[in-house]
Amino acid sequence: MAFDYDLFVIGGGSGGVRAARIAASEGGAKVALAEESRMGGTCVIRGCVPKKLMVFASGYHQQMGDAASYGWDVTSGKFDWRKFRTHLHSELDRLEQIYRDNLTKAGVEIFDSRASLADPHTVLLADGRKVTAAHILVATGGHVEYPDKRAESFGISSNDVFHLDTLPKRLLIVGGGYIACEFACIFNGLGSEVTQFYRGAQILRGFDGEARGLIAEAMRDKGIDIHVGTTIIDSEKRGDGVWVKSSNGHEAVFDQVLFATGRAPNTQGLGLEEAGVKLGRRGEIVVDAYSKTSVPTIHAVGDVTNRINLTPVAIREGHAYADTVFGGKDIAPDHDLVPSAIFTQPEYGAVGLTEEDAREDHRIEVYCTSFRPMQSAFIGRSDRVLFKLIVDKDTRKVLGCHIVADGAGELIQLAGIAIKMGATKEDFDRTVAVHPTISEELVTMRTPIRTA
Ligand code: NDP
Repeated sequence: MAFDYDLFVIGGGSGGVRAARIAASEGGAKVALAEESRMGGTCVIRGCVPKKLMVFASGYHQQMGDAASYGWDVTSGKFDWRKFRTHLHSELDRLEQIYRDNLTKAGVEIFDSRASLADPHTVLLADGRKVTAAHILVATGGHVEYPDKRAESFGISSNDVFHLDTLPKRLLIVGGGYIACEFACIFNGLGSEVTQFYRGAQILRGFDGEARGLIAEAMRDKGIDIHVGTTIIDSEKRGDGVWVKSSNGHEAVFDQVLFATGRAPNTQGLGLEEAGVKLGRRGEIVVDAYSKTSVPTIHAVGDVTNRINLTPVAIREGHAYADTVFGGKDIAPDHDLVPSAIFTQPEYGAVGLTEEDAREDHRIEVYCTSFRPMQSAFIGRSDRVLFKLIVDKDTRKVLGCHIVADGAGELIQLAGIAIKMGATKEDFDRTVAVHPTISEELVTMRTPIRTA
């Protein structure tokens, strides 16, 4: 049977775009891609990229103070949110155009339309047109999840942050994950009074305990009012703000309430189950190691599969799919030892196991140091950095590395290479320190602080 396309991709985010480009340019496939919103997806349009630009913007206030402490004559003015927002959106427009151009250059046909599945070879476009393809790739990402309808009626999500008309003077953030903690630090740096409610005992569940503790303390030191074991029990719109009563008895009015309470896969209304595609408990598409769904002609990559929900992972999954199905190669994406960073202030970079997880299956040695870096100690700032290595006592391999420090995202990329190569503690020790840096501690920690 002749199909209209060799590949039809639903979703123009990081994973879908990579798969479409590689299948077309390297695999010689006839490819189409449908995107209902803006090209680039969550990462480029409403996630990593605008967030990181806000991280940069929010860091300058402290840097100006530091410069003054170092002897510079600095006059610090006010942050102009609207000026920044205009610049931010023109940058996102530019990046979106690059994504479009790259697809077009690779020969991919773009449909600016919602698309769903009609059957294992047929895609239905929003205007009723049907197109057929030998293969279909679902790369529809995820969406913000509010705790309930009521929260949605008065709250905002990370999608709305980049469009705010004014910076909230008093901001409540609900959640203790990546997004909640990153935005707590961003808005604190931009000058908002930030309160954060987290329902559990310590923010950043799932990450290394000591790193979480240090980050929470640093956030509190910067003035973020973190309440753990705390939820909203009552709320009401009052004037331009929201009155909130919390489980700790606290009552306050906030200009905005930001819910960062997780994300869920975009699988609804796509005709997936009707086409025979199996979904998991959280609505994610169930795939095998090659991103193949329960229907052999349909694959899925990225957040919609809820494996490791990170942009570079979606890109790897999309690339591996295109290489395997259209490039004659046999490549399953590798989900082991994926380094990642949380852009709190200070940043947190992690690769491999947390101490808590490592203890479950290994006999371990823990090497850890925490100290005031020279740059900030000089001006009397109290912030500390943390370097931690978790080592397998039997194989000597480094099982996990955790860094809390400015630039930790950059550092963990490099530590990640060594750990991915299987470096042992002795390999770290054989490496000569770069002096004076904070990261030299990675190769100079001689004595374990704990064994287990
Ligand atoms: P997370 O799942 O990381 O965090 C959700 C937070 O909300 C958790 O603290 C959770 O608590 C809490 N929560 C969930 N439901 C409720 C509820 N009903 N009431 C109160 N609190 C609730 O999601 P995020 O939205 O922060 O991030 C989504 C994904 O985006 C991440 O998984 C990550 O993969 C990706 N991301 C990556 C970034 C990076 O790499 N730097 C940056 C931003 C996002 P509990 O812990 O108790 O479950």
